[in-house]
Amino acid sequence: MRFIDEFRNSAVAHGLAVRIRKKQVRPVNLMEVCGTHTVAIFKHGIRQFLPEKVSLLSGPGCPVCVTPNADIDKAIALAQNGGVILTTFGDMMTVPGSYSSLHQANAAGADIRVVYSVLDALRIAQDNPHRSVVFLGVGFETTAPTTASAILEAERLGIENFFFLSVHKLIPPAMRALLDSDGVRIDGFICPGHVSTIIGSHPYEFIAKEYGIPCVIAGFEPLDILQAIDMLLVQVTTQEARVDIQYRRAVRKEGNPLALRYMDKVFEVTKSTWRGIGPIPGSGLRLRQGYERFDAESAFQIVTRPPREAKGCRCGEILRGVCIPSDCRLFAKACTPEHPVGPCMVSTEGTCSAWYLYGQEDKALSQLREP
Ligand code: SF4
Repeated sequence: MRFIDEFRNSAVAHGLAVRIRKKQVRPVNLMEVCGTHTVAIFKHGIRQFLPEKVSLLSGPGCPVCVTPNADIDKAIALAQNGGVILTTFGDMMTVPGSYSSLHQANAAGADIRVVYSVLDALRIAQDNPHRSVVFLGVGFETTAPTTASAILEAERLGIENFFFLSVHKLIPPAMRALLDSDGVRIDGFICPGHVSTIIGSHPYEFIAKEYGIPCVIAGFEPLDILQAIDMLLVQVTTQEARVDIQYRRAVRKEGNPLALRYMDKVFEVTKSTWRGIGPIPGSGLRLRQGYERFDAESAFQIVTRPPREAKGCRCGEILRGVCIPSDCRLFAKACTPEHPVGPCMVSTEGTCSAWYLYGQEDKALSQLREP
C-alpha cells in the first residue's frame, strides 16, 4: 500500500474486524502508549470494530500530559526572570501549572515565544545576543534527537546565550513502571510508532521476556491499528509474547542509529518524575558532562512554590489507565478544551481531549474497572 486512502479502506477494515471477532480470546486489555494512537483510535471509531472482550486503554503517551506541575512551575519561574526569553511548543502554553500557566505568565509580561522546532529557538538566541534564550524541551524519544542536534549546533556556532530546560522523557521505563504498579492490568501493548522509528524494537523486549506481555509496534492509520490489534490477539491466543513490528514502512528493529548517536552524545539517562506515576528511574534525559553549560537549571536560580494539583482533576489516574475521563466529575463540565483544568484536556493528544472531541463513554472500556 502506498497512499493514505489505502490505509483507510473500509472493506479491508471490516475484514480485519471480522478476523478479530472470530478470535477466541479471554477478556483482554490492550494499552496504547502514544497520544497520536489515542486520537486515531477515537477519530476513526476503532473501538466500535472490536468485540466487547477486547478493551483499549490509553496510557501515558502524551508528553504534555505527563509533564508534572513542578516542571511547568519551573518554566514559568524562568520566564519571569527579566532577561530570559522562554521558547516552547504551542501546546505547552495553556497547560495549567500549580498557580498559573505559561499563557497567563505571557499575558502578565513574561517574554514567552511559541516555536515549531528547537531550531527556531536557536535562531531567536542568535537574533537576541543580549538575552538568554531557554528552550523548554518537552517530548519523548521522537523529539530528543532534534534537541540534541540543536545543542551540538549551538556548541559548533559558539552560541552562549542558548539554554535548555529538560523535561524529555523515555517511554520504555514508563511501561515497566506501569506493569509494576498496582491496579493496572495490561495484556498487550500497542507500542508507539513515532518513538519506535528512533529506538527500534529492542528496548521493548524486556516486556515480552520478563513480563510475558505481547507488544506490537503500530502505525497510525485505521488499518495499522486494527492489524496491530489482530497481531496482539494472535500472540494472546497462542500464549506467546514477543515484540512484533506492524509499522514496517517506518520502523526498523535497530531504530535510527544516527538519531540514537546524537542523543547518546548529548544526553545521559536520569530519573524523571511523571504525572500520575511519580519518579521513574532511567526515564528522563539530562545533559552529559561537557554540555552542562547549556543546562538552564544550572545557569539560573529557579525559585518556585511547592507544587499542587488542580482540585478534582484525575489526570494521574487516567494516565495510568485506571480510570476514564467520564469518571472525572469535571469532565465536559468545568473542564473542556476551551477551559482545561488538567493537562489531559489541554493537549490535542490528551485522553480527555480525545474523549471530549470524538468519544462518548465506551461500554467495553468501562468494564475494565472490574477485571
Ligand atoms: Fe483533569 Fe479535566 Fe481530565 Fe478531569 S476531565 S481528569 S479535570 S483534564
